[in-house]
Amino acid sequence: MLTVSSIDRRRFLRDTITVAGFSFAAAAIPTQLLAQTAARRFAPVKVSRDRVIREVVGLRPFRPEGYLVDAERAGAKLLVHNYGHGGAGITLSWGTAVQAVDLVRDFSVASTPRRTSRPTRFAVIGCGVNGLSTAIMIQRRYAEIGGTVTIYAKDLPPDTTSNIAGGFWSPTSVYDGDAASTRFLEQFRTAARISNRAFQLLVGADYGVRWFDTFDLGRSEASLQYQLPGGNDLYPQLTVHRDPEHYFGFPFVRQYSTMIIEPQVYLRSLLRDFHNAGGRIVVKEFRNREEVLMLPDQVIFNCSGLGARALFDDKKLTPVRGQLEILLPQPEVDYCYLGGGYMFPRSDGIVLGGTFDHDNWSLDVNREQANYILNSHMEIMRAMQPRA
Ligand SMILES: Cc1cc2nc3c(=O)[nH]c(=O)nc-3n(C[C@H](O)[C@H](O)[C@H](O)COP(=O)(O)OP(=O)(O)OC[C@H]3O[C@@H](n4cnc5c(N)ncnc54)[C@H](O)[C@@H]3O)c2cc1C
Repeated sequence: MLTVSSIDRRRFLRDTITVAGFSFAAAAIPTQLLAQTAARRFAPVKVSRDRVIREVVGLRPFRPEGYLVDAERAGAKLLVHNYGHGGAGITLSWGTAVQAVDLVRDFSVASTPRRTSRPTRFAVIGCGVNGLSTAIMIQRRYAEIGGTVTIYAKDLPPDTTSNIAGGFWSPTSVYDGDAASTRFLEQFRTAARISNRAFQLLVGADYGVRWFDTFDLGRSEASLQYQLPGGNDLYPQLTVHRDPEHYFGFPFVRQYSTMIIEPQVYLRSLLRDFHNAGGRIVVKEFRNREEVLMLPDQVIFNCSGLGARALFDDKKLTPVRGQLEILLPQPEVDYCYLGGGYMFPRSDGIVLGGTFDHDNWSLDVNREQANYILNSHMEIMRAMQPRA
């Protein structure tokens, strides 16, 4: 289990090979990417205890082998799993929704004793980002033949883990490098690309999606030599600065662009889209697989996140606890950084986080972690101030 004491902050500040739990695979960055751009102005984040407006804790649904997108026959029904997205459930949502719905392509149901037809009755278990994206993807594919989709879930937004997320677009903390198969890694790469493109098309206030300049803060040369999660090609304007005076006081800072998806706005908009396309929601808790399979629908998608551990007896699925400190909003802050944790500016507050406690089920706020998060960001802000 990772606790505050096990976060080796000094080592982190020396060398950000792992930035806030974000692991990068080794690859050299071409020298032409080294920065020649003019220094940028950064509005300081006002980090102080009296600006904290919320403290939240959530459990990332993590599988060492990676998320599960797979289908199995259960009598006359098809059961499709789509869960276990770790620290990137929002990031990967459209990609894995497409991959899950693709698995229905060859499935048919008996319409008369002699004929079969495409299924038209779908159930989705779960109303987090993956349940909603999967449900909307089914509506898009099956609307023309009169397909109907019902979401069944114990909790609805704003009470899902998806609402807790920072909302940073980065397919990170999804699997263990030692445990993931080549097949999974291919599926993951494809999902990241499908999803990245889908979010680009949702940029704007309606869905709460926005591009941001992002900065990885590094103390060593090694921090320049690692691929960003999913592949460097997913991050425009990749540049390296060696200019501590203008870039946070750090000797090596990697800049790139990625998106922030504001969970509260985004999930509300997905709910609206689902309803507008004729979707139905039933609040219901399932106790086991048998209860799920009693649903009248022909195809059932399991998007129950961490709930799949108990519901489908998946012991590989474990929580990775994360705690966030949310400060009063600062609309003038127009950048993100990752270094000793992360800072994402959102309209509902400045999000400070970056704790990853494996196998920890506690949803209580940890005071020690709260202090650690605030202190490390205060230190970054101090180092960012121009020297006298
Ligand atoms: C602190 C923190 C920061 C994060 N930051 C990011 C980030 O920056 N970017 C990113 O992409 N991801 C991030 N994540 C990860 C992301 O939040 C998760 O991967 C994502 O929420 C998983 O979505 P989901 O839809 O699969 O599950 P959930 O959002 O947990 O939804 C599961 C649904 O299934 C239902 N359910 C479960 N069990 C049952 C049952 N037995 N019966 C009926 N219904 C059931 C629930 O009620 C709920 O509706 C973060 C997570 C945390 C905790």
